[in-house]
Amino acid sequence: MPRSAGEIASYHAHIYYDPATTRPEAERLRTWIGERFSVTLGRWHDVKVGPHDQAMYQVAFAAEVFAEFVPWLMLNHGSLSILVHPNTRNPRRDHLVDPLWIGRPLAVHGEKLPEETELEQAPAPNTTPHLRP
Ligand code: ZN
Repeated sequence: MPRSAGEIASYHAHIYYDPATTRPEAERLRTWIGERFSVTLGRWHDVKVGPHDQAMYQVAFAAEVFAEFVPWLMLNHGSLSILVHPNTRNPRRDHLVDPLWIGRPLAVHGEKLPEETELEQAPAPNTTPHLRP
């Protein structure tokens, strides 16, 4: 039997940048996102964290936001790499096997992620969108 998309509790987009060269581009993209989408912008990680191989910030969002947000990211990521992954009960599979990449794919250190966890619902958005995407 195929898996149901109902397994997906929420999504993350991890927006990668180089602190020495592309942080301004990442800042601009973050501003654009906040102006347009009801999502949760995570804090800046200028050094590698968790399974991620480059500086990044996370955008958490509900499944209902995917159809408008992800195509917009495809057109507006510029030179940045973005990992979009589902949140199911298996974070390792979510990051390594089932994600999609916008821009150039990067390494992900999935061995740092568990294969079983609690479902992660999208948190309350912390943006106040006022522009049309
Ligand atoms: Zn994530």
